[in-house]
This record gives sequence, C-alpha cells and structure tokens, in this order.
Amino acid sequence: MIVMKFGGTSVGSGERIANVARITAQTTERTGTPPVVVLSAMSGVTDSLLRAARTAASGDGISFRTIRQELQAKHEQAIATCVTDPEHARGLRAEVSTLLNWLENICQSVQTLGELTPRGLDILSGLGERLCVRIAAAAMLSQGLKAQTVEATELIVTDSNFGNASPLFEETTARVRARLLPLIQAGIVPVVTGFIGATADGVPTTLGRGGSDYSATIIGRCLPADEVWVWTDVDGVMTADPRIVPEARTLPSISYAEMAELAFFGAKVLHPKTMQPVVQANIPLRVLNSSRPDHPGTLVGNEITELPAIKGITAIRDLSVVSVEGLGMLGVPGIAGRVFSAVARSGASILMITQSSSEQTITFVLRSVDTPAVVQAIDKEFELELMRGDIDQVHAQSNVAIIAVVDAGMPGKPGIAARVFSALADKGINILSIAQGSSAFNLSLVVNQADVDEGVRAIHKQFNLDQV
Ligand code: ADP
Ligand code: ASP
Ligand code: MG
Repeated sequence: MIVMKFGGTSVGSGERIANVARITAQTTERTGTPPVVVLSAMSGVTDSLLRAARTAASGDGISFRTIRQELQAKHEQAIATCVTDPEHARGLRAEVSTLLNWLENICQSVQTLGELTPRGLDILSGLGERLCVRIAAAAMLSQGLKAQTVEATELIVTDSNFGNASPLFEETTARVRARLLPLIQAGIVPVVTGFIGATADGVPTTLGRGGSDYSATIIGRCLPADEVWVWTDVDGVMTADPRIVPEARTLPSISYAEMAELAFFGAKVLHPKTMQPVVQANIPLRVLNSSRPDHPGTLVGNEITELPAIKGITAIRDLSVVSVEGLGMLGVPGIAGRVFSAVARSGASILMITQSSSEQTITFVLRSVDTPAVVQAIDKEFELELMRGDIDQVHAQSNVAIIAVVDAGMPGKPGIAARVFSALADKGINILSIAQGSSAFNLSLVVNQADVDEGVRAIHKQFNLDQV
C-alpha cells in the first residue's frame, strides 16, 4: 500500500492535475492496489485564502470578493482542462461555487465582527485542499480510475492548537483504517485533503503551513503503508535549495534524522514534522518529481549513507538574536531557567542557544515575529534585576539568519567546522554566533541576513557538493 502526496505546483493547473491522475493510474497498475492520494491546494490558493481572511478582519470588504472571483476562475479553468465529461464538469463547477459562496459569507462575517481568531482562520485556510481534491478525483474518473474524495476532518483527529495542530494517533488510526481500507479493497482511490484535520469535537484545524507532507506520513503510519511518496517540483532532496544554489545535486538517500534537521532549518521540500510518524515504523519516504516521474528521487529512511563530505546546507531567515547580559548574572543560579521560562510563556520557540563561557551573557535565536513579545516577557521577569543593574540590558538584533550544515557523520569527521569557517571567511562573511545545532548532526551559524545566500553558496562550493 502506497500513500502519495502531491504539492501545490504538482496540482497547480488542470494539466498538472491530469498528470497526477496519470501517475495515480500508473501506480495502481504497477502495485496492483490503488494508492491513497493526499493533495495540497493548487499553488498560491492557501496564500489567497489567508489574505482574504486577514483583509476582511481589517475591515476591507473588497479584497475577499476579488479573491473569490480569482479562485473561481482558477478552479473553473482547471476543471475545463482535466474533467472530460460535461455533466461531471457542470456538477463540479456548481460545487466549487457553493464552497466559494461559503468563503465569501464567512469573510463577510469576519469583516462585520472585525476579528479573526486562529480557530476562524483554520476553518477558511483549508478550503484550497477541499476544492482541489474534488477536481482531482473527477480528473481520475475522466481517466477511467475509480476515485472518491475524503475530507481529512473525518480522518485526522488533532489537539486544538489551531494553526499548528498535532494528531492524536489512537483515534486517527482507528478512523483512517475504518474509512480508507474498505475503499482501497474495493479498488477505489481515496483522494484526501492534506493540511487539515479536526478536533475530537469536529472543529477544523490545520497542521501548519506546508503541512500536507505531514498529513501523508500521518496517514501512512496509521494504515500502515509500505511507503510514502511525496511528489514535488524538484528531483528530490538536494544538497541545498536549488533556488539559491543552482548547481545543487539530488541526494539518492538521506536518513530521517538528517532530513529532520534540514527541514527544521529551512529546507522547504518537506515539512519539519513529516518524518515523525514514519521513523518508528521505519516506513520508507520517497521524494519524487511529478514532472519527471521516472527519476528515482530521494529515499528517506533509517540508513545513513556515508558521503565524502556533508549531506546538505540550509538556511532559515527572518530571525533575531536576543542577548541577556550583565555582570550581576555571574554565578547566580537559575538565571537561564528564568530566561527560558519567560520565553516559553510568551509562546515563542527558540531555534538556537549559546552561552558565553564567562556566564555573563545568554544568547539565543528566535523568529523575528516572536521577538517583541519575548523581550517584553524577559523585561518583566527581570524587572528587579534590571532596576538594580544586575542585568544591563536585554538586547535584540534583527535581520539575522541561521545557516545549518547537516551530516550524521559529522562527529567522526575532523575539520568540517574549519572548512565551513574558512569558506565564509574567504567571502568576508562575519559569523555572529555558532552552535552545534539541535543535534550532533548539525553545525549552526548565525550570520547577517544579507550574507546568507552567498554563505550557502560558498560552503556548497567548499565541499564540492556540485560533484556529489
Ligand atoms: P510542494 O508544493 O510540492 O509541497 P514546496 O515548494 O513546499 O513544494 O517544496 C519544494 C521546494 O523546496 C523546491 O522547489 C525547492 O525550491 C525548495 N527547497 C529548499 N531546500 C531544498 C532542498 N534541500 N532540496 C530540495 N528542495 C528544496
Ligand atoms: N496548502 C498548504 C500550504 O500552502 C499546505 C501545503 O501546501 O502543504 O501551506
Ligand atoms: Mg510543501
């Protein structure tokens, strides 16, 4: 049994959706069993939905109506291209219209209320996936496959952390098996919405931006599937983001742990949580190119392959370095604990921590959007110490980025760090801070945002990754 996920570009037009149906038909033929197909929204649609909701909340009554029209045109055009039966196409157009009317009505209410809660946003932001699965299932029928849409709100039971929900596996497993296995046994392709789920009470949630990859492995683990295939717009997992390093190479294989590091530090090709559900069951994950289905892509699994140098380089932008400094911190127990508790209370997560050996400074890296709330929380926690001068200041520097160099063999390979530093030094790039990342597989460097792309390219070149 295979679970296949197709991303936004892979369903970005009627032609691309017809291609998804072709790949599904081939997979059914080759494996003798219909795959479970998990889909993202058509490219750009989730962004448009978020914009519709946010502009409505700010009192704008025009933008969401314009967006509605654009979405209608986009989906109708796709239907015209990939759904051949006119009767079917007509029914589908009506369904799209009904769903978009619903969008418009909710946006109207949001505008009237002037308020948009994370819960409200999750109801709207999953609409792109709901539209897409309907069209794709119809395209499959047009190509002679049996297919049925399934809304993941029926399958994936989550907590109520709106915008970034986590699955509750026991309940989800029961539902996935009860709903999908009978379809597969009857030779029907289940076409499932990625990205969305619902709480046990049925309130819609989302798994976070780019979360359809995660939906696929959640379902893969619950079935359980033999493999999960993530179809995207590049040949697999590459040594760096090909948009930054054009000569980046596709890795034939990478371990779950290495992939998790790359994804956490910005390699958008897979959502950072994608590996979690499949690691324990050791379900192989493949990343494949939907435009070049014969390319072998990348296998993500338990095996760690030895390469001469490093697996990959990635970067995460729009960060800030926050430092808490002061002579009065010297040798005083509990300061770090109080700093990090204050950060946690503000709801932010920390990407990297460094402490100077003198114990006078605690430095950590956060997303810039989280920084004002964090600084405020720390100021409040240390009100007394700041007043007494035990702590000099809480300082935040924005416009920084982390470059992460990832390889599982790093602890046993001397000289990696030296080569990374010299590659950056040769370009005159200043390193603001260094940490051995979140695991021994990862060397993380903080640099000014303006230096990121050049830095990634310089490290890529230093390790000759274009010749892997
Ligand atoms: P999808 O819509 O299929 O989910 P995404 O845009 O989310 O696709 O992810 C694919 C993109 O990830 C690629 O087009 C590529 O630009 C980017 N990317 C960043 N880092 C990497 C990497 N190390 N390997 C492959 N792609 C990467
Ligand atoms: N459509 C969603 C997003 O744009 C989920 C995904 O693409 O994986 O974030
Ligand atoms: Mg994606």
